[in-house]
Amino acid sequence: MNQVSSDGRGAQDAWNGRGLAFRFRRLRMSTSTKLILTLTLVVGAVMASAGYALVRNQETALMAHRQNEVLAHAITLQLALDEAYRAGRPESATSLIDRLSENPKIEGVILYDERGQVAVQSKPIVTTGSGHLEDVQRVIETGETVERLLRIDDADFLSVIMPVRLEGGQAAFEIVEVTTFVKADIREARATIVVTTLLLFAMIFAVVVLVTRRNHTRPIAALLAGARALGGGEHGYRVAVDHGGAEFTELASEFNRMADRLAEQRSAAERDADQRLTLERSIRHNERLALVGRLAAGVAHEMGAPLNVIDGRAAQILSQPNASLDRRQRNLTIIRTQTQRIARIVRQLLGLARPYDLHPVELDLGRLARSACDLVEPEANAAAVEIIVSAPGAAVVEVDEQLVQQVLLNLCLNAVQAMPHGGRLRVGVSTDTGGGEVLVRVCDSGPGISPDDLPQVFDPFFTTKDVGSGTGLGLSVSRRIIEEHGGRIEAANDPSGGAVFTVHLPLPVKPGSAAEEEVAAVGNTATGR
Ligand code: ADP
Repeated sequence: MNQVSSDGRGAQDAWNGRGLAFRFRRLRMSTSTKLILTLTLVVGAVMASAGYALVRNQETALMAHRQNEVLAHAITLQLALDEAYRAGRPESATSLIDRLSENPKIEGVILYDERGQVAVQSKPIVTTGSGHLEDVQRVIETGETVERLLRIDDADFLSVIMPVRLEGGQAAFEIVEVTTFVKADIREARATIVVTTLLLFAMIFAVVVLVTRRNHTRPIAALLAGARALGGGEHGYRVAVDHGGAEFTELASEFNRMADRLAEQRSAAERDADQRLTLERSIRHNERLALVGRLAAGVAHEMGAPLNVIDGRAAQILSQPNASLDRRQRNLTIIRTQTQRIARIVRQLLGLARPYDLHPVELDLGRLARSACDLVEPEANAAAVEIIVSAPGAAVVEVDEQLVQQVLLNLCLNAVQAMPHGGRLRVGVSTDTGGGEVLVRVCDSGPGISPDDLPQVFDPFFTTKDVGSGTGLGLSVSRRIIEEHGGRIEAANDPSGGAVFTVHLPLPVKPGSAAEEEVAAVGNTATGR
């Protein structure tokens, strides 16, 4: 039988080892097995019923045949007895009875007189039984024939009681014949029918199995193998279409057509993917070109102005060799200032492009935030900006102190510069143990960042400050530094006004170290400086 267990392995596996009964329950029959079993059961049931009916008919026919035989003997005897007594030769009746009794099928013959008493008996046989005498009397009185089945000493007999006319009037005789051999005939007939039925059943079963295997099992196995091959990536696999009946041939053809369509769609998808990749590459290339263009324009713009100034002042020195010392010194000082400005831009550009050589140390970010605020204090005082630092607990991180301080300084300076007419700068440091990071929030009470500018503030050379006062490189360098530390930096506007910059830095990974308790939000537990 072609059975497959529910876990996909063959039926043979399921039969091996322990838990046979449990595995048997888990067996999933294949369609052809179900078909074979159903057909076998139906055919078996029909053949068993037909065989049973045949056995019953055979039994009835054999019994009826034997009855007719006994009845024929009885009628012959009745005619012979009638003739003997009508001819006045009762002794010939006795010898007839004796001769009849010699027949091995005939157990015995009894002649009853008009009163129902035994007149002649071939050999002593027990014919008594309930209603026997009454039957004899009834035959004498009515002239009817009575047939009875008897069982004496485990042997079966058929008794026929018939009327006969004797000298003194109506009498009766009884002929008893053995029927046991009929039972043997019936057993033989039954065995023949059972064997024939079983042979027929075996043949039908074999034919059903062969036909099912050829028309169902093989084509289904071929389709299954095809589906598995396709699913496993063998896109060129096709199913042979000549297995099984018309439906399976059609199914196999449809399967192959589907495989062809899949192959077409696959190659179309591959073509699409290739095209998309080429397009993406060209978009990325264009984006890089645009970025380089923006950078070049930014560099040209930022450096163009100081270079012009330097050129102008150098030309003045050259064209006025007799100018006063004071004038020459002023020009040289201006040239130096502009050169320093160019050097600053170059440094920042390098900060954006070069790979960082980090020197991380464990430090408290709260302390670093305070020192950054200390550094911007002169500018803050000049602009009447109040600084509030909130760092209630130790927020330990492992960072490059110089670089992270540069970031915090840049954020604080930007905030102070955004509030030229005074305001409040709040710096909060907190630990988010759940998120595994330390947060630094730099908030100001300035005008905030316009929604149009917000997506660009981290772009290199994006600045809204006056020429000379901003390079537009501070935030892009800051983002680069924070990302080098595995963190991120975000810009937003506070709903109550002002800009908010949040720096996320990862907590140092230390096995067994206890996470710091999360501190209150910036401003809630603010402490003045
Ligand atoms: P720069 O300060 O030289 O302009 P940055 O990269 O530091 O360069 O800043 C880019 C721009 O982001 C600034 O010109 C300004 O428009 C905006 N910006 C940064 N910080 C703030 C702030 N606290 N409030 C408003 N705008 C800000």
